[in-house]
Amino acid sequence: MKLGKFSIGTGDRFSHQGEAQLKAIMKANESGLDISPVWNKSNREHIYVHTKPEDVRKEADAAVVALGFKGKYFVDADHINLTTVEPFVETANFFTLDVAAFIGKPSSDEAVAEFVASCDKYLGELKVPGINHSISVTKVLLEEIASKFLTATQQASEIYKYLAEKKGVGNFVTEVSMDEVENPQTPVYLFFILKMLADKGVPVQTIAPKFTGRFNKGVDYRGDLQQFEKEFEEDVLVIDYAVKEFGLPEELKLSVHSGSDKFSIYPIMAKVIKKHDKGLHLKTAGTTWLEEVIGLALAGGDGLDAAKYIYSHSLNRKDELCGPYADVIDIDTTQLPTIDEVNSWSGEKFANTLRHIPEHPDYNSNFRQLIHVAYKVAAEMGDTYYGLLVKHKDVIAQCVEENIYDRHLKRLFSL
Ligand SMILES: [Zn+2]
Repeated sequence: MKLGKFSIGTGDRFSHQGEAQLKAIMKANESGLDISPVWNKSNREHIYVHTKPEDVRKEADAAVVALGFKGKYFVDADHINLTTVEPFVETANFFTLDVAAFIGKPSSDEAVAEFVASCDKYLGELKVPGINHSISVTKVLLEEIASKFLTATQQASEIYKYLAEKKGVGNFVTEVSMDEVENPQTPVYLFFILKMLADKGVPVQTIAPKFTGRFNKGVDYRGDLQQFEKEFEEDVLVIDYAVKEFGLPEELKLSVHSGSDKFSIYPIMAKVIKKHDKGLHLKTAGTTWLEEVIGLALAGGDGLDAAKYIYSHSLNRKDELCGPYADVIDIDTTQLPTIDEVNSWSGEKFANTLRHIPEHPDYNSNFRQLIHVAYKVAAEMGDTYYGLLVKHKDVIAQCVEENIYDRHLKRLFSL
């Protein structure tokens, strides 16, 4: 099972926006692109929202049937590991093997020595086609990479073997993710990580490294754009070289996690993948849930009341809700409006404050990030929330589609 050249991970916390998401992708595909939708949901999201992996499959299948979508589509068991994978086996056909927790876990001296010896031909000045400077590869560097990543890649191989046995070789897409860590993996690291995965027989189709800079949830990229461009382009070239050197799947491409809303790097990624004729997987998540809240606010009446309720509870439970996301949000609490203030807002004002249009005078990234992590509040509203999603379906769907098409796909694919 091959993932196409371009794919978009469309997370959907409450499983009601599959059609709106697919519509946005189909609209982009009208211009000749062939973007595959990948509905992704992690175990953590399922726990918070009380959904099951089969709900995502149902949502994806239903959207595809309703809109008559003829392309390839996938259901991604996002960020799974050996302890969480089991419930996803049946219904997912894309698995994101999250091995970040195993980075830096010790390996035996023999394993490290064996890996270093297998890299003999790369010692000295490594020349990657397309990269105009050579990369110095020393034994010390190889030992360092091996010590940090052998256990993690071994873990990927164990999850892969489990899946291959359960689902059959070739019946699913394999992604390996290492993005949820503090330190970025440089292109040279990526090269040898890919060698390890190839050595261990993991036919990785997408890899999610940790890039330089901050990929905070729901807001734009923060970091050095020039540095990002250099690193991203080198990653693309390293992958191309690794595919040839190690016999990895030819469609292997980068996966950018927390990829929604990173507007300032979209033109850079667009330029690089076009220049080298490469593919990309961009994973989005909570950006759709935020559009639900925006849609509810715009709907007014009970919709706006619900949006305000969600904000007031988010603010009151800020520490609890932000805790699990501490590394991927930066909220300046002094910039958060009071509950009284928000309660006096119109639907328009609420939507403009939340909607990701950085140049809008009402936009508040602190407000946006807080609501981003507050989906637990909506989950606790249970049927009341779901009822509102149904009642205000049209206005919400329009927000979801516009967000994915106008703010994301148009920028990413220069449409
Ligand atoms: Zn991720």
